[in-house]
Amino acid sequence: MRHVLAKCIIILSMLITAALLPAEEKELTVPKGGNLSTLLRNEDIPSQQIQEVTKALSAHYNLKHIYPNQKILIKTEEVAEKRLMELRLSADYDEDIVVRWNGYAYESYPEKLALKMVSVAVEGSIETSFYNDMAASGVAGSKIMELFRIFSFDIDFQRDIRKGDSFKVLYYDFLKDDGSIAKHGPIAFAALKTNFTDVNLYGFVTDSGDYDYYSAEGKSVRKTLLKTPVANARISSTYGKRKNPIYGYESFHKGLDFAAPLNTPILASGSGTVEVANWFDIYGNCIILRHSNGYKTLYGHMNAYGKGIKKGVRVKQGQVIGYIGSTGMSTGPHLHYEVIFNDVKINPASVKSPPERNLTKKELERFSKRKEQVDELFNSLKKNG
Ligand SMILES: [Zn+2]
Repeated sequence: MRHVLAKCIIILSMLITAALLPAEEKELTVPKGGNLSTLLRNEDIPSQQIQEVTKALSAHYNLKHIYPNQKILIKTEEVAEKRLMELRLSADYDEDIVVRWNGYAYESYPEKLALKMVSVAVEGSIETSFYNDMAASGVAGSKIMELFRIFSFDIDFQRDIRKGDSFKVLYYDFLKDDGSIAKHGPIAFAALKTNFTDVNLYGFVTDSGDYDYYSAEGKSVRKTLLKTPVANARISSTYGKRKNPIYGYESFHKGLDFAAPLNTPILASGSGTVEVANWFDIYGNCIILRHSNGYKTLYGHMNAYGKGIKKGVRVKQGQVIGYIGSTGMSTGPHLHYEVIFNDVKINPASVKSPPERNLTKKELERFSKRKEQVDELFNSLKKNG
């Protein structure tokens, strides 16, 4: 009887101990040069368990992929000895690999995470720089780079951005159960208002499933350079080797010549800033425009400049910047046109800007509805804080 009582007390005290020492949860960080075994050994997990756990884990996860600073969650219990009850690591933004003690052995399985999508609306103004102020407003670095890219079709970041310019962004985040961000989702809306321009962009999925950005009117943000900066012109000399028409020797023609009657309007082949608008050696009256993404275009032999065209002025694609002439080294009225990419003269016919994609009528209808929803969502989020 006495013996039985003693046994009962021992069992009772074990139960109490178990209750007093509930499953401990801990987040471990893989150290530089460390592996899973050393990490678990540091937690006083018996080596038999470590062996079994790593074996079970390797059925779903390549242990060579464990990297420094990786987070590993463990749950342990301690009764007679320490027991690793569960181990969890992230295999993808929406998938964990779990190893669990089922009472007899360790089993492992992938677990899809139920992510919650949340909308985030941000509004601010430029105080120090586009990047800093966006980051200070809580926009993730990768998203800021995406914003740079999509705005750069319309905005010259070196010159256009001034203190006080304002921005708005609406984007999505995917959250885990614990509220941490699993993945940054797409940008639904982005606006940037500067002294020069007011850009509003909406993300939209086309019928073919492509996600891209469009103006409020549904125009693609991607703008190619115009193939022909002069209406009704014919190409009189192509890019490449040719006999120089004045001196007769073989030379390399680093542009395209468009022959057209005197004073035919010349159009800016892309939006940009006037970098040169003056007499320039053999080019005579010359304009150089600087566009986004490293492109420049040059227009030579002009008879006259367009209204208001001078150094530093912003021009829009298709705007008249000058008139056909024969100034400088020229044999007759024509436009000498060059495309310069990262300071190298390239064949204008070979310019491959990202393709412009116009929405179909059906897509435009869907886009307008989408735009309304996004505007409403942004306003309601801003109103509610
Ligand atoms: Zn030429």
